[in-house]
Amino acid sequence: MDRESEANGLGIATWLARIGNARASATHPSTEPLFQTSVYDFESLEQLDLVQDGGQVGFTYARMGHPNAATLEEAVARLEGAEAGCACSSGMGALSAALLAVLESGTHLIAARGIYGGTSALLVCELARLGIEISFVDIADLKALAEAITPRTRLVLVETLSNPLMQLPDLTAVVQLAHQSGLQVLADNTLATPWLMPLQVSGADMAIHSVTKFLGGHHDLMAGVVVGSSELISRVRRVASNLGQYAAPFDCWLACRGLKTFALRMQRHCQNAQRVAEFLQEHPAVKRVYYPGLPSHPQHELARRLLKQGSGPMVSFDIDGGESAVEIFVRHLSAIPLSPSFGGVNTTFSYPLKTSHRSLSPQERNLCGIGPGLVRLSVGIEDWQDICADLQRALAPVDAR
Ligand SMILES: *Cc1c(COP(=O)(O)O)cnc(C)c1O
Repeated sequence: MDRESEANGLGIATWLARIGNARASATHPSTEPLFQTSVYDFESLEQLDLVQDGGQVGFTYARMGHPNAATLEEAVARLEGAEAGCACSSGMGALSAALLAVLESGTHLIAARGIYGGTSALLVCELARLGIEISFVDIADLKALAEAITPRTRLVLVETLSNPLMQLPDLTAVVQLAHQSGLQVLADNTLATPWLMPLQVSGADMAIHSVTKFLGGHHDLMAGVVVGSSELISRVRRVASNLGQYAAPFDCWLACRGLKTFALRMQRHCQNAQRVAEFLQEHPAVKRVYYPGLPSHPQHELARRLLKQGSGPMVSFDIDGGESAVEIFVRHLSAIPLSPSFGGVNTTFSYPLKTSHRSLSPQERNLCGIGPGLVRLSVGIEDWQDICADLQRALAPVDAR
C-alpha cells in the first residue's frame, strides 16, 4: 500500500515520521524545536554576508525564512516530487504569491470554472483590479480551454480534485495543451494532496496547498505552501517576503508535527471515505453520491488510473428533498459537526449552498452543479462504523418524511 520512496530506500511513512529530526542541534532535542524568534544574530559582518549570499546555511529574518518553514518546505517538496517549496501564511497566501510570481498587469489567466470560492474572490476582486485579465472555463472541455488562450495568456489554474463535486480534470491533457501554447499550469492540490496526486504525476509547473487542511490535518493551524522548480520558487519567495505572506514559525512547527502522521491519516481517510460513500449510495434518502471511488462517478475509470492510493478523503451527496431535508439531517446529526472547512482527524460536514458557494447566484450555482440538497463530508479517521451510524441516525428521519 505504501508508495515507494525514491531516496534512501525508505518508505513514505518512515521518513514522514522522522521529519525534522535531522535538524537537531548540539543539544540533541529528539524532535525539531520551535524557533520562535523573528531575527537571527551574527558573529561578524563577514558571516552576515555569507548567509545573505547563500554561501553559508543560515537565517536572517523570519519574514524571509526560518528553520521550521525550511523543514515544512523540504517535506512538502519531497512529497510532491518538486525541487523546492515556499511556506506561506495560508493557502490564499500561497496562491496569491504563486500567481503574482508569474502574472503582471496586461497578462491573462485561465481558471477552472467552479474553483474554490476564496480563489475566485482573489481573482475577481483583487487580481482583476491589478490589470490581470481572467477567464473561467469548463476545464473538462479542452476545446473551450484552447479557445480561451490569447497571446497574453500566461497561466492555467486548476484544482487536481474539485470541491465539492470531486471532479478530476484530465490533467495530462490540460498540461499538454498548456505547455504546447507556452503556458504554465498551477495546480491547487489541497483536496487530492500529494498522497493522491503528486506534482511529478500531474505534470503541473507549480502546486499550492492550503496546509490548513489535510497536510496539517488537525484543524489547529493556518498555513500554505507553493512547490515547483527552484527557479519558480525563488520568485515566489521574493513575492511572499515583499508582500509579507511568509509563514510563521509556530504554524510551520504544527504542520510538521501533523505531517509525521500524514501517510497513516491519508490511508485511513481514503478507506473510510470509500466505506461512507458505499453506505450513502445504498441509502434511500440519498439521491446521488459524488465520490471517484464509486463506479457511478463519471470519472471512475480516470480516477482508478490516476489515483493509485485511494479515491480521496471527501464525499459529497445530494439529499432527496433539498434545503428542508438538509435541515432535518443537520438537526439529527449528533457527532459530526457543521464545520465550513475540512481536513481534520474527525469527520465534519459542510453545506456548500451556505458556505463555500454562498456568494454565487442560483444560476451560477446551477452552472457548477451545486444544488440545495448537496452536503459535503470531510471523512475523518474514526472507526467507519461510527461515522455511518451517525449519518444513519440523521438520514432516517429524512427518509421517514
Ligand atoms: C481552503 C482552501 C484554500 C485556501 O486556504 P486557506 O488556508 O484557507 O487560506 C485554497 N484552495 C482550496 C481548494 C481550499 O480548500
